[in-house]
Amino acid sequence: MSVLQQNYAEVKRRIAEAEQKAGRQAGEVGLIAVSKTFPSDDIREVYAAGQRDFGENYIQEWYEKTETLADLPDIVWHVIGDVQSNKTKFVAERAHWVHTIGRLKTARRLSEQRPPEMPPLQVCIEVNIAGEEAKHGVAPDEAVALAVEVAKLPNVVVRGLMCVAKADSDDEALRVQFQTMQKLLADLNAAGVRADVLSMGMSGDMPVAVACGATHVRIGSAIFGRREQKGKDGQ
Ligand SMILES: *Cc1c(COP(=O)(O)O)cnc(C)c1O
Repeated sequence: MSVLQQNYAEVKRRIAEAEQKAGRQAGEVGLIAVSKTFPSDDIREVYAAGQRDFGENYIQEWYEKTETLADLPDIVWHVIGDVQSNKTKFVAERAHWVHTIGRLKTARRLSEQRPPEMPPLQVCIEVNIAGEEAKHGVAPDEAVALAVEVAKLPNVVVRGLMCVAKADSDDEALRVQFQTMQKLLADLNAAGVRADVLSMGMSGDMPVAVACGATHVRIGSAIFGRREQKGKDGQ
């Protein structure tokens, strides 16, 4: 096993442990391996160990990877970074999931540009859960209303909600944020949008997210290693 494959096995083990501690079913929490800034060969290694779902933030970088990895037909691409209007076409044509819908306009473009022969694009509404100035996403009290509008679009399907917890939160502060997400998902269902996904939990806060009902965790550095600092937003 390579180092990445060992890291991957360890992350899988930690997720299983968190599931068990939280009284959740084994295998219930999906893992999205966040490969941003890492080369396609690293993705291949983790793919060879069995991983299929990969998350990418930067559309241009991801574009190149979809080309290099075109021979892996069952790879599932999750866009987890901001999608600017001029990038929606490519995302609509190649992504399986977009976790970062914060505006109706973006969702509308994705729906319009989704090729008719493809299944609807699966999307999550990104919630700016701690109301941080520098973060993307919709305010918590606007999330349900946005999701209801997005759910009316023909070629996207609202799967649920996504958040990035505030950095440096202690476990109690994390719980408050993740439990608010759980409540928002219940509100969303009460509003008539059947959605079951909570995309939350990263390398540093995965166990708390799993305890609070995360269905998909997005893990980067614990698998691929430390990222080079690329400035604000990692760009
Ligand atoms: C980078 C990133 C992750 C993974 O973060 P790690 O701390 O490396 O696990 C998850 N979600 C989003 C939105 C990210 O940008």
